[in-house]
Order: sequence, then structure tokens, then C-alpha cells
Amino acid sequence: MHIQHNVDLAPFTTFGIHAVAESFVEVSTIEELRKAIAWAQAANTPFKVLGSGSNILVTDDVAGLIIRIRIMGRTSTVEASSATIHCGAGENWHSIVQWSVENGWGGLENLALIPGTVGAAPMQNIGAYGTEQSSCFVELQALDVTTGIVATVTKDECAFGYRESIFKRDLRHQMVITSVTYRLATAPVVNVSYRDVAEELHSCAVIEPQVADVFDAVVAIRQRKLPDPRVIGNAGSFFKNPVVDLDTYAQLVAAHPTMPSYAQADGTYKLAAAWLIDQCGWKGYRSGDAGVHDRQALVLVNHGNAVGSQLLELSMRIQHQVQDQFGVDLEREINVW
Ligand code: FAD
Ligand code: NAP
Repeated sequence: MHIQHNVDLAPFTTFGIHAVAESFVEVSTIEELRKAIAWAQAANTPFKVLGSGSNILVTDDVAGLIIRIRIMGRTSTVEASSATIHCGAGENWHSIVQWSVENGWGGLENLALIPGTVGAAPMQNIGAYGTEQSSCFVELQALDVTTGIVATVTKDECAFGYRESIFKRDLRHQMVITSVTYRLATAPVVNVSYRDVAEELHSCAVIEPQVADVFDAVVAIRQRKLPDPRVIGNAGSFFKNPVVDLDTYAQLVAAHPTMPSYAQADGTYKLAAAWLIDQCGWKGYRSGDAGVHDRQALVLVNHGNAVGSQLLELSMRIQHQVQDQFGVDLEREINVW
């Protein structure tokens, strides 16, 4: 375990924003993780956990220790109708999805090409194209920072919701996820309910899609539609899609008949945050190097040398205007450091 000091965080987040971490360490075992936490506690300094930095906006230099999770490893147990995979928290998410698809195991293919680590996936219950990681989730192991004990956390205990889990709420800063277990189907039924996926398969003349076809379709759509952080700094969707009750929905749709919305099973309605932001005229906006992506208004971008506080300020202006124009609160999805 090698603790470094005054480390530039730009290469460690997809926003690529320059900010200095007072101390920084990479851990590749649970024992190293325990030692890193003990080091911070003994120095009476705070610590933060980092995966691939694809859901973080750093707004200032970071005091204390940043612990980058590099705990690797993957195993599988195959039974008649399912394959159970157990993955270290530092494994690359997309690489695990690809490995599953190559083995013919289904369940994660709609979540192809989401940046980040396995350990961060339960944190906001990553989701895309009609699927969330919770649909295959079995349990995870996490180190309790107070006791130093690694505990198993069950699916119920994770309290997964739309881009939500207990790790963003009650257990924030309390548990460091060290590994995750998923159960995948060996005779999978694919989910092609999402319009873009169905259209992509249709345009490729795929009649009876298999897991690999859905994976290829999602990869193709994402490569075409979403900004690549290697080209332009971003952290994906900056805000969650707001979910409103029936009364609010009825008033909004009466005033804005073309507004996209998606009825939820519990009687609420999900609105498209990107549409609301676009209607306020923000798509393609740029001030200095901080901006809003010109094809996807939900994504804030760093054109080169933006600082985190500029992007945070921009995000707050967007929130205020959407509130003024539609009376809808946009909640941040990303983590602000
Ligand atoms: P980080 O950004 O490093 O960390 C995120 C949070 O999790 C932080 O609070 C961190 O402290 C905490 N954390 C990280 N690792 C651990 C751990 N082991 N234990 C405890 N806490 C931990 N998200 C979606 O849901 N769907 C998408 O389709 C999607 N598309 C994206 C597309 C792009 C281009 C980008 C840039 C991002 C996208 N995201 C998407 C967001 C992001 O990829 C996910 O949130 C991802 O899970 C973050 O993983 P990470 O390892 O980079 O986490
Ligand atoms: P899109 O297809 O343009 O759709 C816009 C929004 O409408 C999406 O966010 C999606 O909500 C919702 N939506 C569309 N069809 C839906 C349906 N059939 N049922 C329910 N909701 C529906 O979205 P996009 O920007 O190209 O993104 C495609 C997918 O990748 C989405 O699932 C999105 O969440 C995911 N993504 C996430 C991030 C991130 O950082 N979180 C970044 C890029 C892409 P949902 O978000 O609930 O799916």
C-alpha cells in the first residue's frame, strides 16, 4: 500500500477536472482497505472512496485520503437454469457484462458500456434501456468502516430504487463495497421493451434477438448517442429524471401537451429531465469551458479547463429555471465532492 500526497485528480474522474487530493491510495485487497481506513482514522483525517470517477464532480481540492478501489477477481458457479457470478468491487463493469454475454448468461446485457466499477453499481442501482442492476442482484459484501468487519448485505437491505440505494442514504460513508454477487439466466429471455433497442435490432434485421444481439445493439446506440468522456469530460446524466404524482402530471401535460412522460407501476409519472432542460434553452449552452452537451441536455460537459464550481453553479441555474418554468425539482444524480 503506497500512500501518495498532492495528487491531481483529473485522470481519475471522467469530468477530468483538475483538483488536488491531499492523500491518495489504491487498494487491491480487503486488508489494504482496512489499513488505508486505519491510516486515515489514526491521522484524524476524512477519507472518500473512489471507483472510476464516472459519477463524481470534484468542486475543490480534497482534504484527507482518497481510497481508490482496485479489488479484482471474478468467479462463476453454473447450475441448470442460472449462473451465479461473484465480482470484486474494482472490476470494470462493462468487462463483467461482456464476459457474461460471451458465456451466454443473460440479465446484464442492457447495461453494456456503462462506465465504472462493479463496487459502485449498487450505489445508485445503475440502470439503462429498461433494466437495473437490481434485477440480477443477489447480495454484496461491504466493509463497515466503524468495526472493520466485512458483512453481507442482502438485496432487501440494499433498498434499491430508481438510481437509489441505502448506500446513498443511511449507509453513506459507512460501508465500503468489496464484492457483489449477481444471478444470471442460462436460458435468458431478453428485454427489448425500450424503443431505441427495438429499433436498433429492427434496423439490423434481427428477428429473434439473443443476449449478444441486445448487447451489440446497446453498445451501438450508446456509441452513437452518448458523449465519450475520453473526448469530452462528463459524468453522464447530471440529474435524475423527476417522478411526479398524478395531479402534477395532469397539470403539466395540460400546459405542455408534447411533454414526454412514462407511467410508473405505482401510479406516478416519470418525466424526461433532458426535455425540461432543453425547453429552457440550455442544450448546447457554453460559458467558458463549462457547458451543456449539444445533443443530450441532461449531460453537463467540461470542454477542457472548467473547474468544478463552475459546473456546479451552472447546474444550479438549470435547476432554478426548470423550477420556475415547470414547477419541477431536478435532483442531482451525481455525487458532488
Ligand atoms: P465513482 O464515480 O468513482 O463513485 C460514485 C459514488 O460511489 C461515489 O459516491 C463513491 O464514493 C461511491 N463508491 C464508489 N465505489 C464504491 C465502493 N466500492 N463502495 C462504496 N461506495 C463506492 N449510470 C447509470 O446508472 N446508467 C447509465 O446508463 C450511465 N451512463 C453513463 C454514461 C457516461 C458517459 C458516464 C460518464 C456515466 C454514466 N453513468 C450511468 C454514471 C456512472 O457510470 C455510474 O454511476 C457508475 O456506477 C459509477 O461508477 P464509478 O466506479 O465510476 O463510481
Ligand atoms: P432516451 O432514450 O433519450 O430517453 C430519455 C429518458 O426517457 C430516459 O432517461 C428514460 O428514463 C426515459 N425513457 C425512455 N423510454 C422509456 C421507457 N420505455 N420506459 C420508461 N422510461 C423511458 O435516453 P438516453 O439519454 O438516450 O439514455 C438511454 C438510456 O441510458 C436511459 O435508460 C438512461 O437512463 C441511460 N443513461 C444513463 C446515464 C446516467 O448517467 N445515468 C447516462 C446516459 C444514459 P431512464 O433513465 O429511467 O431509463
